[in-house]
Amino acid sequence: MEARVVTLPGDGIGPEVVAEGVKALQAVADRYGHHFTFEERLIGGCAIAATGSPLPEETLEACRRADAVLMGAVGDPRYDDPRSPVRPEQGLLAIRKGLGVFANLRPVKVYRQLLHASTLKPEVIADVDLLVVRELTGGIYFGPRQEATGSDGTAYDTMVYTADEVRRIAHIAFRLARRRRGKVTSVDKANVLAASRLWRRVVTEVAAEYPDVTLETMLVDAAAMHLLRRPAEFDVLVTANMFGDILTDEASMLAGSMGMLPSASLGEGRRGLYEPVHGSAPDIAGQGIANPLAAILSAGLLLRHSLELEEEAQAIEDAVEAVLAEGYRTRDIQEEGTIPVGTREMGDLIAERISHA
Ligand code: NAD
Repeated sequence: MEARVVTLPGDGIGPEVVAEGVKALQAVADRYGHHFTFEERLIGGCAIAATGSPLPEETLEACRRADAVLMGAVGDPRYDDPRSPVRPEQGLLAIRKGLGVFANLRPVKVYRQLLHASTLKPEVIADVDLLVVRELTGGIYFGPRQEATGSDGTAYDTMVYTADEVRRIAHIAFRLARRRRGKVTSVDKANVLAASRLWRRVVTEVAAEYPDVTLETMLVDAAAMHLLRRPAEFDVLVTANMFGDILTDEASMLAGSMGMLPSASLGEGRRGLYEPVHGSAPDIAGQGIANPLAAILSAGLLLRHSLELEEEAQAIEDAVEAVLAEGYRTRDIQEEGTIPVGTREMGDLIAERISHA
């Protein structure tokens, strides 16, 4: 297969980890006889420094022409002042909007080899393999709002959803559940919020089209609790923007390290935006010690969701599992008795396993 991938390394450790993601994709191409071309573009702080904009038009155009986009991270302490007129993070919102990606997928899998890296008991997190599907472009972050003026005043934000917005994300969740263990948990606050009652009604209607998938509905407060109490029972969780924002961070802690978590953002077509969950980690940038596994696993999601190469995606995931089983660890996940490696060595080990898949 031929595919065009735009890479957006971004800031901090972004370029270091994206290079390893590309290495994994190249290893897949060589092993399975595909041809991927990679075009690198600017986003974030480096784009501001070069062009004045966190998302140059030219970057967005290149992404629109691509089959998939692999991003690193944005964020640079030089622009941390919230009063700064342009900030690297504006590039993130702009690219999600520009590519029309409304579904954010965050798989959380607890690797047996890293059971002890989590703050939760191993017996609670063993067997966790869940996927949070978060609505990304609607809800309370985008509804009408008013800032308070003066010392006391009134401020509000509004959670708005249309049936269509709920329907399209529900379809994504059910389709994904079909390829997994066949269960969707829809998370809302239908006992209080009108927007959640619409959410629950539409998700329930969509469920009727997927008789092979089980639907469970759960209030967000209960979901927050059950994610810690019995996380292994979840398969796909689907939820509104703000609830998903909070629950994905909670779920990410099950895995122990930010350096392990990939994400995908999808829209109507097959093109998607793939990125590690972590940020630009300026504290460790340029030292060659960042964990590239989240970026490499994001490349795996790219193969699965944009290129529909399931076997190849699985090869990446198996390679990660194998390398961890052999004891190799970057600094963030090191334990006694493991073999320390840097960013590039970890990427080389993964690529080598893929070549022998
Ligand atoms: P961060 O995720 O960059 O770092 C948090 C901690 O985790 C740091 O100690 C860091 O060293 C560590 N860490 C993160 N990724 C790692 C990896 N791959 N390997 C090893 N250790 C890793 O979050 P932060 O420090 O809150 O933010 C830094 C910058 O990143 C800020 O400018 C922020 O706005 C930005 N940010 C960007 C994104 C994104 O691009 N999607 C997401 C979050 C934060």
